[in-house]
Amino acid sequence: MVKIKAIFLDVDNTLLDFNKMKKLCVKSAVDAMLDAGLDMPRKKAIAQVFDVYDAEGIEYKNVLQDFLKKALGKIDYKILAKGVIAYRKMRDGVLMPYPEVKSTIIKLKKKGFKIAILSDAPSYPLWMRLCATGIDDLSDVVVSAEDVGAEKPNPKIFEYAMKKLKVKQEECLMVGDMPGRDIKGAKDLSIKSVLVMYGSGNISKNYVKDMSIKPDFKINYFRELIPLISKLN
Ligand SMILES: [Mg+2]
Repeated sequence: MVKIKAIFLDVDNTLLDFNKMKKLCVKSAVDAMLDAGLDMPRKKAIAQVFDVYDAEGIEYKNVLQDFLKKALGKIDYKILAKGVIAYRKMRDGVLMPYPEVKSTIIKLKKKGFKIAILSDAPSYPLWMRLCATGIDDLSDVVVSAEDVGAEKPNPKIFEYAMKKLKVKQEECLMVGDMPGRDIKGAKDLSIKSVLVMYGSGNISKNYVKDMSIKPDFKINYFRELIPLISKLN
């Protein structure tokens, strides 16, 4: 029987609680903007910021600018600055891995498994998040969608990681929170897949976790990877 040698890991909402970070950042930014004179109900402001993310993508940089333009008809730069500063402070303070993520990766590395990071995030914010949380030191290869010019489920990102680690698809295990991206991409290449049940996949209110794409395994806690892989091997 072929043994698993490499673990492919998605980042946002698999290793890091990205959605929690986003929500706290937006709330903090809105509170600071209200403090600075923005005159609108808090709930409405929060919802409108997320509307901008829904329209432009969750990594969109000018979210508060667009929000203010829509809310006030123009950008009030004092309010914008207060919001951006509050957002950044919160982000730097709260971005962290889910419980036992790092200790589990360390255990896997000690057992000899290669660790690949496969993320659809653009390279710069991806590396910022990996370095801020120390996950960069635990990875043998990091591939972003930007590196290969295609997002999951496109096979390119998986193939790149396999080539870098010199492993075949039957020696890999993909772990992610989005069935349509992480699981489908793995399945298309006959890579075994694990769906994490704790990540909500996407912060967009329009996102529905598509459970019609069946993973080989599901886990409720990241640490469950260790017994799962022991069983497979
Ligand atoms: Mg994810």
